[in-house]
Amino acid sequence: MPAVRFIPPLFNGLRAKGFFTTKAAGIDRNAVAKIAGVRTADVYMPVQQHTDKVLCIDFDLDPKIADGVITKRQGILIGVQVADCVPILLYDKKKQVTGAVHAGWRGTSGGILKIALMTMMEKFCSSAPDILIAIGPSIKSCCYEVGHEVAAAVEKTSGGTDYSARKGEKYFIDLPSANKHQAFSLGIPPENIWLSGECTSCRPEKYSSYRFEKGAAGRQGGFIGIV
Ligand SMILES: [Zn+2]
Repeated sequence: MPAVRFIPPLFNGLRAKGFFTTKAAGIDRNAVAKIAGVRTADVYMPVQQHTDKVLCIDFDLDPKIADGVITKRQGILIGVQVADCVPILLYDKKKQVTGAVHAGWRGTSGGILKIALMTMMEKFCSSAPDILIAIGPSIKSCCYEVGHEVAAAVEKTSGGTDYSARKGEKYFIDLPSANKHQAFSLGIPPENIWLSGECTSCRPEKYSSYRFEKGAAGRQGGFIGIV
């Protein structure tokens, strides 16, 4: 049985607790609350709809439509759920602001990570060198065949092309790397960014994968909080 969660090395020993779950804990609110040591009622996950909407939350924990959440409130855990899409955790270690982002191809081409980072900078006065970013397990280019329009839309927003490859009429893209480019474009230093490198579709025993399971997938998540 794989571990129910793991902490990205970049987040080791920090004041914020940030972790990604495997399919064993998935997005079970009781399980993730227990891991973080918070009440189940203090776990916040937005209603995800592949948007580029980033929500700032404080004391109103009613679920709202968004694919990114940012908070300065301590004592709560925020998170996103995925089953191939990219879960991304953000932490401003100086201003003590946390964020969680869900970036599939739609979110990535909508620039949701850039929107989340700009929100941290504008609303909470975060500066790029203080922001740590952990990009969790997701489907990678080995397994992620997309249409030309999708590859073009992701490249247009993210910049760079070293994460997409064409094999004959087929296109393969690496969404974690595309998001890394988005972070670079806002000045996040490379050493502040951690990438899991694991492909959910290559590791079905460990992760839920929408593509591998042909639709009927469970979920895993990325969670963070100053708790
Ligand atoms: Zn793969």
